[in-house]
Amino acid sequence: MNVSADNYLGLQGLEEEGRALHELAAELFPLNRSITGKGLRDTLRRLGRELPFTLHELPTGTEVLDWTVPDEWNIREAWIKGPDGRRVVDFAESNLHVVGYSEPVHCRLSLEALQSHLHSLPEQPELIPWKTSLYRRDWGFCLRHPDREALAEGEYEVFIDSSLEAGSLSYGEILIPGRREEEILFSAHCCHPSLANDNLSGLVVLRRLAELLGQAERRFSYCFVFAPGTIGAITWIARNRERLARVRMGLVVAGVGDRGHLHYKRSRHPESELDRLMERTLAQSGQGFHMLPFTPDGYDERQYGSPGIDLEVGRLSRTPWGSYPEYHTSGDNLSFLAPESLAGSLAVLASLVERLESAVYYRNLRPEGEPQLGRRGLYAALGGHRDPDRREAAMRWLLNLSDGRHSRGDIARASGFDAEFLGEVAGTLIEHQLLSEEG
Ligand code: ZN
Repeated sequence: MNVSADNYLGLQGLEEEGRALHELAAELFPLNRSITGKGLRDTLRRLGRELPFTLHELPTGTEVLDWTVPDEWNIREAWIKGPDGRRVVDFAESNLHVVGYSEPVHCRLSLEALQSHLHSLPEQPELIPWKTSLYRRDWGFCLRHPDREALAEGEYEVFIDSSLEAGSLSYGEILIPGRREEEILFSAHCCHPSLANDNLSGLVVLRRLAELLGQAERRFSYCFVFAPGTIGAITWIARNRERLARVRMGLVVAGVGDRGHLHYKRSRHPESELDRLMERTLAQSGQGFHMLPFTPDGYDERQYGSPGIDLEVGRLSRTPWGSYPEYHTSGDNLSFLAPESLAGSLAVLASLVERLESAVYYRNLRPEGEPQLGRRGLYAALGGHRDPDRREAAMRWLLNLSDGRHSRGDIARASGFDAEFLGEVAGTLIEHQLLSEEG
């Protein structure tokens, strides 16, 4: 694992970066995030601090594509008191203890009646599971299995001081403009409470990337979206329809702080520019990695990659969601989050951006049919060279792949010609106004 030689973004040493990323995750960890509410809003404000950040709020009831913005959920206090009056579960100790979006309740009930509102993990007894009931009114508590088993017979008092009321859905956006209007999209979900890898890792790594990009010279514009999973990404898409055409490519970043290998999930577009870039970036990162095919599951890549939206969006993670035992439990905590993994993920993203910014792109100015080389004396121009066939082949590769989506490096790999030679031949085509170099 290394900081790239050019280090165009000015990354600090990875140890230092890792420490700072972990510190910010620790600061955000206790906030009670959900798909709406105060904890989400406070998280977004902290992420956007000192950056060109916009906090968007969309009122409850707003229709977004096939969905509707739900009631806003807030919670102040929640506990269960046992027959002896002692608190056996308390939201103040961990926000995982309460099922997300629990409706308010204050009642007395038997242990048997209470059991249907309790969730624990017999297979992982020491971990508190994380549960939500987002789109169905319910209430519940999550606890360690041995604590559940120790509950005595008798009458329990349950109190949840929450509210489910008309409010708004919040999401945050950081826009870093470049010379071109074309945007590179980075997106992370932010709707999980005290879980570290599954959501804080992506948020802190992307916030830092935005900060670094803000200090650099940029060709592309960069848009960072921090939105609640599913409903937030759908909201962003619904509110930015006219802008989608400007999104050149994008990456969902989630679960990038555990100690596993990097996993890149390809976009929905076979052989996309992004997939080529990511594969090369990862291959040269010095870190172990795996390439995964696109599938219509996972995080918000499935919204950006829905058929009517069809953006070129892949996903960067470490161990894939759902396949580590700490997933969606209290085991996904700050000690599960490794500073060196956070820094390694940031380094990969920085090197992806560096590739995008430093690549040479040509544009074929006569892309319809093959331009008539002979009429322009281009065959004759080859006469003076030792290797006219080679130059002619290079011209054809350059003309064919200079569609704005293939860099000179891509053309070199496809054709087998080295980039320097291609640059020289491109110079001839530029003189004859068949090609231009894009800024
Ligand atoms: Zn999750």
